[in-house]
Amino acid sequence: MTSDHGYPAVRMYIAGEWCHGGTGRTAPIVNPATEKVIGEVPLATIADLDRALDAATEGFRTWRDTPIARRSAILHAAADLITERAPEIGRIMAQEQGKPLKEGTTEALRTADTLRWHIEDARRAYGRIIPSAPGTLLTVRREPVGPVAAFVPWNFPVGGPNRKLSSALSAGCSIVIKASEETPGTAAALVACYADAGLSAGVLNLVFGEPAEVSAHLIPSPKIRLVAFTGSVPVGKLLAAKAGEVMKPTLMELGGHAPVIVCADADPVKAVRMAAQAKFFNAGQVCTSPSRFFVHESIVEEFTAEFVKVAQAVTVGDGLDADTTMGPLANERRLQTMERLVADAVSRGAKVLTGGERLERDGYFFAPTVLTDVPADADVMHEEPFGPLAPIVPFTDLDETLATANALPYGLAAYGFTESAATAEKLSNGLEAGILSVNHCGGSVSEAPSGGVKESGYGREGGPEALDAYLITKRVSHLLA
Ligand code: NAD
Repeated sequence: MTSDHGYPAVRMYIAGEWCHGGTGRTAPIVNPATEKVIGEVPLATIADLDRALDAATEGFRTWRDTPIARRSAILHAAADLITERAPEIGRIMAQEQGKPLKEGTTEALRTADTLRWHIEDARRAYGRIIPSAPGTLLTVRREPVGPVAAFVPWNFPVGGPNRKLSSALSAGCSIVIKASEETPGTAAALVACYADAGLSAGVLNLVFGEPAEVSAHLIPSPKIRLVAFTGSVPVGKLLAAKAGEVMKPTLMELGGHAPVIVCADADPVKAVRMAAQAKFFNAGQVCTSPSRFFVHESIVEEFTAEFVKVAQAVTVGDGLDADTTMGPLANERRLQTMERLVADAVSRGAKVLTGGERLERDGYFFAPTVLTDVPADADVMHEEPFGPLAPIVPFTDLDETLATANALPYGLAAYGFTESAATAEKLSNGLEAGILSVNHCGGSVSEAPSGGVKESGYGREGGPEALDAYLITKRVSHLLA
């Protein structure tokens, strides 16, 4: 059902029913390109959350015991619906998150691929038979962990929730997911694909609410067996600590501050082509976004000039306009953070070569920004910018730069550019990150794992590793005679 603006009326999905919250409490949904309220998101009460917990408990029993061929058929049907509805999902995303239509549609198509990959992988979640004593059958089985509580942010409104849903459901778990209150229409459109594909009531429950209230209620509940979170490091620590109090496993996909090391032997123009495209993708609101550029002093001038050219060629605008290549920031908090980080860097001696300020129009638009002469103690060099800022710093010694790159508590993505196989190996070996790309800025793919080290979190999404968190390993020894 769509409202007058072509933006859908948003509901929660609990126990197989689309519903409002118990008290009718809502929060506004704002289009970041216009700052206009385009809808209302219902907020769950504790009673709503309890219904979702009960439904997930019941849903788990049903789903776990559903033959894998049937589970696979339902999830493949959901993937087909996501594919079919990708343009519509992309349109909702453009309205509530701001990203260009093409990016949103592609995100939906890729998420369908991820779902297909996970369900096929789950069909091969084999156990093993271990040689033992005569008359004893010693086996190891992999079983779904149980109902999952998942919390996801707004930067990938369909890809983010679907990473949790596709892994959990493929593994045979049920789930209560709290998607972002800022991008609820996309999450509801995604959940509708699963519901319309024939998923039984209770297997998948979608809630919105006051984030701290929802997590404080769901995480300690004995009905929940795994907590999966994507978001910032401080919130991740908070939720992991809460789960630790009740010894509950967690999967944490947190922030990063990805270094890009461009060596003297790299082609600076080629490197910019890759790195700048990745930098301004989703307006820099990506946990793996390249965000600290260390460029050898012999090529830094050429690299910087090319980066400025590319930044100035970005078409910033409403995601619904066909020409737009970079949308607004998703919310006002991001805009304020960009302004603060630029002001701080400038106050410490940095130069703004292009951008550096919000655009003079309605909406949370911030110009693609290139900074040079950025001192090491500037906030932007150690705080994840999560926006379209590119600080460029020259270097002379690779070992020193590796140490600087690794000095932050983050360890999510890292990038290196070099023509030398030996240097590529030195970077691959030396950079502390869960995701490393050499001579390009590779995005995530369904068949390979993504995840962090250090404070960027633990556990992996994507690839065969994605199911690990959602499956428990059980040893069964059977004395036959
Ligand atoms: P935030 O940390 O306040 O929120 C991030 C997400 O966590 C949101 O979806 C929010 O609803 C949820 N959240 C917040 N408090 C929660 C709680 N107590 N319980 C459950 N969920 C909770 O940050 P933000 O302003 O939305 O985003 C800013 C920062 O978050 C960025 O600078 C970036 O570092 C990080 N971030 C990371 C990712 C990622 O993919 N790793 C995604 C979005 C944001």
